[in-house]
Amino acid sequence: MISLKDVKDAKERISAIAHVTPILQSEQLSKICGNQMFLKSEHLQKTGSFKIRGASNKVIHTIENGAKYVTAASSGNHGQAVAYIANKYGVPATIVVPENVSTCKVNAIQAYNGKVEMCGTTSGERLPRAQAIADQEKGVFIPPYDDPFIMAGQGTIGLEILNQVENVDVIIVPIGGGGLISGILTAIKETNPNIKVIGVEPELANDTYLSLQNKKITAINAAATIADGLRTNQPGDLTFPVLEKYLDDMVLVSEDEIRQAFSFILERTKQLIEPSSATTIAAAMFNKLNIQGKNIVTVISGGNVDLDKVHQYIVTTTR
Ligand SMILES: *Cc1c(COP(=O)(O)O)cnc(C)c1O
Repeated sequence: MISLKDVKDAKERISAIAHVTPILQSEQLSKICGNQMFLKSEHLQKTGSFKIRGASNKVIHTIENGAKYVTAASSGNHGQAVAYIANKYGVPATIVVPENVSTCKVNAIQAYNGKVEMCGTTSGERLPRAQAIADQEKGVFIPPYDDPFIMAGQGTIGLEILNQVENVDVIIVPIGGGGLISGILTAIKETNPNIKVIGVEPELANDTYLSLQNKKITAINAAATIADGLRTNQPGDLTFPVLEKYLDDMVLVSEDEIRQAFSFILERTKQLIEPSSATTIAAAMFNKLNIQGKNIVTVISGGNVDLDKVHQYIVTTTR
């Protein structure tokens, strides 16, 4: 299991790469939620999501150990992040994406000089291909979440929250494979265990929720949610034990609640965030936590949205 020291080491390693992202506040949101809301704004992070933190920590460490080629299997934010950091260090990267990938995602990877290879439509097809390219090129495959360096890198968000917000009561974090929340849990619980950390998943991608209930890793098909960053089918072998040890609670949000939160944030705060990140706002807006009058930090994990899909996310808010 990773420790606070791994997260602190990650902070050092990535300090020249990742931004310390701002905390945004909205009086209207705080009023609606009945809590003081602080938005840790990783949609304003380099490459548009927090994934640059873990990817940088892993890729820099890998290069320091002699790697001259990296690969990843990702249709989204992790692929962009790996391409960005590899390019920064002058190491070639191949990102394996699904055949139905959107043009804007391909463009983003190519803008960082990443090589894009299309393979199948499922992660079950992409992963072995990215592994095979890494083997063939004597390079290193960079996993999206189930890796100590990835987890520690994502955990640096926790250290920043502790510096930026006084008297934090609760932190809400979206869960895909669990790299983000396991890093944050390590940073927070090994510094101030009184701060509650709560995970959120879409109802349609509740693999971690079920796994915690069943007390063992449980797989589902999570492809149906609009929160595309949370479509992972099961928690990771390394991330899940950290959740079992430290996580205070988990809540689920519906697709309609995600859309309402997305629309509220866009309309009222003028911030374009991903549906994956809107889950944390939805959890607070629809009072899933049953708490009032507290200081709540929501992790806005990213802002990469295909503009031609935005109309599918917008609903007229009744608030
Ligand atoms: C990857 C991702 C997540 C989920 O992170 P995990 O480490 O897989 O739990 C959440 N939001 C966004 C925007 C992401 O890109």
